[in-house]
Amino acid sequence: MKRCSLWLVILGLLSLGAAPALALWTTRSGARPDRLITIREIASRCGLEVSTPGKKIVLRGQTALVEISTEGREARVNAQQIWLHAPPARSWGRWCLTETDAQKIIVPLLSPASYLRGYGTAVVVLDPGHGGNDPGASSRRGLIEPRIALDIAKRVRAKLINEGFHAYLTRDVDRFIELDTRPRLAAARHADLFISIHLNAAASRDSHGIETYVLTSPGFPSTSGSNGENSSKNNICFPANARDVANNIFGYYLQKNLRTAAQAEDRGVRHARFVVLKEAPCVAALVECGFLSNAADERRLMTDEHRDAIATGIAKGIIEYGRAVRRANPAPPPTQKTNG
Ligand SMILES: [Zn+2]
Repeated sequence: MKRCSLWLVILGLLSLGAAPALALWTTRSGARPDRLITIREIASRCGLEVSTPGKKIVLRGQTALVEISTEGREARVNAQQIWLHAPPARSWGRWCLTETDAQKIIVPLLSPASYLRGYGTAVVVLDPGHGGNDPGASSRRGLIEPRIALDIAKRVRAKLINEGFHAYLTRDVDRFIELDTRPRLAAARHADLFISIHLNAAASRDSHGIETYVLTSPGFPSTSGSNGENSSKNNICFPANARDVANNIFGYYLQKNLRTAAQAEDRGVRHARFVVLKEAPCVAALVECGFLSNAADERRLMTDEHRDAIATGIAKGIIEYGRAVRRANPAPPPTQKTNG
């Protein structure tokens, strides 16, 4: 049974009469309520037409296609799967999204360059997960996560250096690093981008494919949590949440390029409050590059070609995000000088 509770708080609706815009999304746990925005309002802001075929809401324009499931948190933006923070809700007969999902995910993904002013991409820190006495996941045939993650990270670094980026690793040997030290290493490099690289494992051996995580916005459960999950931690706002929009755009480009280059199942851009994401000093994402617990993913991960394809996908995601950043910042920002 779903613990989900979607309460439409209609206080004030009668007095002001603008029904959908005033409805609020909240959870039984008392999570911070979020305003609802009608899908029609989002569509008109982006110049899109709305239709509701079957169990989805479709927003369509000349170059944009957004499909939102009416039954959960899954959506697709130009065919790339993403996970919203909350399912769409009906208010006064109209489909709505939370303000967070509309303004931090859907609208920015349709015009990314408008949201990336002031961001950079010159310095990239790659973080191969686990290492040393933290073995991470392993496969039946003996592949171990820290070793595969390091191999992929080294390949990404080489590709980025070829493209003119400054690229660093948090570790270049099999050694243990505390989770909260990893973002600090990125801060020490004055990183513009931080990418933690992992391999997945699941109890079900059928699970396979690639997923990308970015930090969950305050007031909502993470993608792995049920909607309306009763946790006071959902309400914490981390300093890294100031970059929610850029994180969502970055995660989108990473996932799109990674799953395409690796020709892998698209498990979408998801949200989580992993330590390396909530402590990140810059735009950040964590990629899960396949399941060591799945026989087909394991077989592919054993080959140089597949690990190289994964690295190519990550590098292409960074490069595509970089193009959007350059469109947002046509002239290089002035160098800041400090006195004394
Ligand atoms: Zn891991």
